[in-house]
Amino acid sequence: MRVIPPVPDADDAPFWDGVRAGKLLLQRCADCGTVRHPPSPMCARCHSVQREWFEASGTGRVYSWIASQHPSAPDDSQRIVALIDLDEGVRMVSNLQDVDLADVRPGMPVQVTFMEIDGTMLPQFRPTEAAR
Ligand code: ZN
Repeated sequence: MRVIPPVPDADDAPFWDGVRAGKLLLQRCADCGTVRHPPSPMCARCHSVQREWFEASGTGRVYSWIASQHPSAPDDSQRIVALIDLDEGVRMVSNLQDVDLADVRPGMPVQVTFMEIDGTMLPQFRPTEAAR
């Protein structure tokens, strides 16, 4: 799989620092506690610019998914791109690993894992033991 490395900015640098350390960090409003992803400079609920980071549980459920074929490298293996509803109440785009496309189900419980892909550490998700 080919990966365009992330270019962290002031908003999402802590997220990528966490990924490199094997932690899934989420941002939340330091005033009202609303969790948000992707990271952003202001809370959409209370408009506070105070924010903090915390380590997520790393568990969630598959909301939706597609099979993706690289547009300019058709010989690359297909990957499953999924929307994951994290238990913390935010949705994240990622890939599913260790599962066949035909076995993916809506609501399937998944857990985060960290994988170096094409030289870049990325959060990926795989079915939990309960899902197998
Ligand atoms: Zn807020």
